Amino acid sequence: EAKAGGRNRAVVYEEHMNELLQLQHTIEGELREALGRDDQLSVVFQPLIDQSSRKVIGAEALVRWHHPKYGQIAPGRFISVAESTGLIEVLGEFVLRRACQLGATVPGRTIAVNVSPMQLRNPRFPNLVFDILHHTGMRAVDLELEITESILLDEEHISAQNLRAFRTAGIQIALDDFGTGYSSLSYLKRYPVDRIKIDRSFVSQLADGHVSVAITDAIVTLAHAMELEVTAEGVETEEQATILGRLGCNTLQGFLFSAGVSADEITAMFKAPDNAALTRRQRRRPPP
Ligand code: C2E
Ligand code: MG
Ligand code: MG
Ligand code: MG
Repeated sequence: EAKAGGRNRAVVYEEHMNELLQLQHTIEGELREALGRDDQLSVVFQPLIDQSSRKVIGAEALVRWHHPKYGQIAPGRFISVAESTGLIEVLGEFVLRRACQLGATVPGRTIAVNVSPMQLRNPRFPNLVFDILHHTGMRAVDLELEITESILLDEEHISAQNLRAFRTAGIQIALDDFGTGYSSLSYLKRYPVDRIKIDRSFVSQLADGHVSVAITDAIVTLAHAMELEVTAEGVETEEQATILGRLGCNTLQGFLFSAGVSADEITAMFKAPDNAALTRRQRRRPPP
């Protein structure tokens, strides 16, 4: 009986795996198609807010895929497929180009772009970035590349070398989703990083008295001791923003302020009179 159950489970598992593989395969094909067109993929920009002034000081580029049949497909569903199939190279270049086109028109604002491990491992990646900066006219110092801890984990020679090349050119490096990987603080010492982004899993638990406050406090203190800036991501409530301010977080990002918006909208936010904090009307909630 246990055996039969086991077999059933195995069958169910296998069917599930087949479905997953099928889905991967479908996504790969559809993504390949989308990358060859100009009407499905786009880039939105989520405001980065200075904690003390609450002004919009920059934005993070986030890719969006609107499929004619399946509708909006979340990056969480296709970035990993893009990575495992190599399509991330083309996709990443598309996002970088869009981000730098915006960056060129808003000097002084930081534009952050997510970079996949596969991109960073490519010895030609720095030259691609420098070329795009050159062609768009964006200043290197306004560009920030967001990498994840997993990149650092493989401790690859080329990745480290590429990071140094970016640093030398004045490009900023941010460590994304900080605290979710096997965060070893020694990585922060060994690799050239300018900023850490505290993952939203910590931020979402911030409430007075919660252990996450103590953890976040320790992270911020350590980061500042190492002269790194700290951004908190996924800020959804005023209470979280207040606690993060008290802990000395430099920059905030989250739906409390705005979800990602178009290049035109973020430009309007940057250029608003005295670059004021977002008005209620400007705050964009994510689609349900
Ligand atoms: P990430 O880099 O950590 O980006 C932040 C994600 O959190 C975004 O999801 C953003 O929409 C979401 N977010 C922002 N504020 C809030 C909030 O207050 N509450 C909640 N619940 N979520 C919030 P998104 O756009 O779905 O992207 C998910 C992940 O996909 C990103 O995480 C990033 O790792 C990856 N990604 C997105 N665009 C790109 C890209 O162009 N290239 C690469 N390599 N990865 C990308
Ligand atoms: Mg990011
Ligand atoms: Mg993140
Ligand atoms: Mg995250």
